[in-house]
Amino acid sequence: MAAKLLTGKEVAQKMDQDIQREVQELKAQGVNPALKIMVAGDAADSLAYANSAKKMAEKNGIACDIEQLPGTTTQDEFVNILKQRNADKNIHGIIVMRPLPKQISEGVVKYILAPEKDIDCFNPVNAGKIMAGDMTGFPPATPQAVMEMLRFYQIPMSGKETVVIGRSMVVGKPLSMLLLGENATVTVCHSKTKDLPGVCKRADILVAAIGKARMITTDFIKPGAAVMDVGINVEGDKLFGDVDTEPAKEIAGAITPVPGGVGTVTTRVLLKHVVKAAQLQTR
Ligand code: NAP
Repeated sequence: MAAKLLTGKEVAQKMDQDIQREVQELKAQGVNPALKIMVAGDAADSLAYANSAKKMAEKNGIACDIEQLPGTTTQDEFVNILKQRNADKNIHGIIVMRPLPKQISEGVVKYILAPEKDIDCFNPVNAGKIMAGDMTGFPPATPQAVMEMLRFYQIPMSGKETVVIGRSMVVGKPLSMLLLGENATVTVCHSKTKDLPGVCKRADILVAAIGKARMITTDFIKPGAAVMDVGINVEGDKLFGDVDTEPAKEIAGAITPVPGGVGTVTTRVLLKHVVKAAQLQTR
C-alpha cells in the first residue's frame, strides 16, 4: 500500500490561521509583534531568505524589518547595534543571518543576542532550555517544523521507537530532545553508526537529516513507519531529500515529500516564535 503523503502545505495553512488569530489578540492588547532580521553584507542567499521571511511575516500581520549593514561592519559595531535591538521594546524577535562577515565572530555574537528574542535558537541558552524541557525556549525552526508535522498528522510519538539520523546543532540534536520530550524512545545516528540500516529498521518514526541525496533506501525502513525527510540536496535544477522517496512510499506508512514537506513549514515556525516571544515579553 502506498504511504500517506505528509505535505507541508496543510500544516503551514493551519499555522497561518493560528498565527493570525494570535497576532490579532496581541494587537487588541496594543502589542504589535515585530521581527528584525539583521544581515551584515550583501550575500544573495541571506537577502533572498530575509525577503521571503519578511513577505510571509507581513502576510500574517507581523511587522518585519530587514536591517542590512555594510559587509565591512566591525564586530564591535555589530555587537553595539545588536545590543540596541535587544533593548528595543518594539522588537520581539531577532534573526541574525549567517554566515556573518569573517571579521565578526559567530561565537561572540550568539551570546549577545538576547535569549528571549532569539527565535531561531542561535544563543546556546535556548539550546540549554530545549535540553531542560523549558517551554520558554525557542528550538531551531527545522526540528520544530518536524514536530509540527508529526502533531498535525497525529503520528503517535509516546513510547515509539524513533531514529534520528544526524546530530547537528541545527537539526539532529535539538530534534532528539524535542522527541524525547514527547516520550519517544530516541536513538541518534551519525556517520560512525554501525549497521545504520539495521538500526533504522527498528524505527516507527525515522527522521533523515543527513544531507545525502536519496541515501535512505527501502533497506532502512520498517514497513508502516513514518519517514520524515529533512534533507535538502540540490542536483542541477532539482531538489532531493535524503530519502529515495518513490520506492520508500511503497513500504513506509507515511512520508514527507521533498520539496513540499518539512521545508514548507520552517518559516511559519519562526513566525509562531515571534508571536510567542511577544506574548512572553508583554505578559
Ligand atoms: P550537517 O551539519 O552536515 O549534519 C549532517 C549529519 O549527518 C551529521 O551528524 C553526520 O554525521 C550525519 N551523516 C553524514 N553522513 C552520514 C552517513 N553516511 N551515515 C550516517 N550519518 C551521516 O547537516 P544539517 O545542517 O544537520 O542538515 C542536514 C540536512 O538537512 C541537509 O540536507 C540540509 O540541507 C537539510 N536542512 C533542511 C532544512 C529544512 O528547512 N528542511 C533546514 C536545515 C537543514 P557526523 O556528525 O558523524 O558527521
